[in-house]
Amino acid sequence: MGKVAITRINNYEPKEVEGALTKAMETLEESQPIVPSNCKVLLKVNLILPAKPERAITTHPEIVRAAIRFFKARGCDVSVGDSPFGLSTERALNGAGIMPVIVQEGAKAASFDKRVTIKVKDRSLISSIQVAAPVAEADVIVNMPKLKTHGLTGLTLAVKNTFGCIIGLEKSQYHIRFPDKMIFSRMLIDLHHAVKPVLNILDGGMAIEGEGPSFGGKPRWLGALIVGENAHEVDAAAARMTGFEIDEVSTLAVAVEKGFLKLENITFPLCKPEDLAIKNFVKSRSAMKAAAMTSWPFTMSFFRNAITATPYSNENCILCGECIEHCPAGAISEGPERVLIDEKRCIRCYCCIEICPHGVMSSKRGWLQGVASKLGMA
Ligand code: SF4
Ligand code: SF4
Repeated sequence: MGKVAITRINNYEPKEVEGALTKAMETLEESQPIVPSNCKVLLKVNLILPAKPERAITTHPEIVRAAIRFFKARGCDVSVGDSPFGLSTERALNGAGIMPVIVQEGAKAASFDKRVTIKVKDRSLISSIQVAAPVAEADVIVNMPKLKTHGLTGLTLAVKNTFGCIIGLEKSQYHIRFPDKMIFSRMLIDLHHAVKPVLNILDGGMAIEGEGPSFGGKPRWLGALIVGENAHEVDAAAARMTGFEIDEVSTLAVAVEKGFLKLENITFPLCKPEDLAIKNFVKSRSAMKAAAMTSWPFTMSFFRNAITATPYSNENCILCGECIEHCPAGAISEGPERVLIDEKRCIRCYCCIEICPHGVMSSKRGWLQGVASKLGMA
């Protein structure tokens, strides 16, 4: 642990991506293999929505192809899966352009439809959790997130990607159970440690900036493949590259607080984050520093409404009902021309921004957020 292999990719051409992944793996496996030969590998990709690869919402199919080839060359039995909100893994794999790659490369699609309970060791919040069966059945999980902004956690990276191991709409229950973003992030870390991916391959080629992690955000080329055994370290590298401070990414803030992440221990044997850093990467309007979320005013609803961004839909809402169905707090209702948000009920999970298939859900800053920003709180 401690080593994060960052390689540059100039495009998603198969040769370019395969070369970058091989270089990263040779560097990380210098002394011993991380993924043993002939084992059952699950590639846990990001399949939040059935979006085309150019939208940069899901793990790029060519990154998946490179990983399949790499592990199949080792004699491994490789499957690929994730659990999107409200639709089957197969449909999402097809929509994201990953299914043809799975078929061409002789891998399998793992259906995340049956659940099993796994224990959480060294827990902070939860002692057991129900995840999709393929997660428990694999010998080895390889986590394959996409680098994207996120309204709740600041960025969604390797640790957050394991949230997709929870089946479909059951994810909503966790937002209700842990509405505070710092506590939610503690739960995410418990889950991540229970799922225990042995390797993280972060697709930072085309990232999402702004109102990510879905159609509300904008694709932006970063050209990085970030690979490491420790998800917290991979996430810290991605944050540095995109100009986020540790306390602007709630999963990183919690990892540091709990002693899971020691920034001084990370080494970069290939590129350094600064080599591929980009200027003015646009953060989500909803993102907020950890300090603001744990301070006493946040617990009062008046201050919460003033200091946090509120979701809203613009005039292009077609009233498809997706956000109404998936809002964990039941805070969205149908208005005459677009959906309406009940600010008092809304727990600021920003799932509605994440799942709106038409990219019309966004957020507006609370009136005190500008002041909080000047005070270094938001
Ligand atoms: S998901 Fe998007 S388009 Fe559909 S009702 Fe909600 S805001 Fe409107
Ligand atoms: S309105 Fe959006 S942000 Fe608020 S609770 Fe519902 S899904 Fe979450």
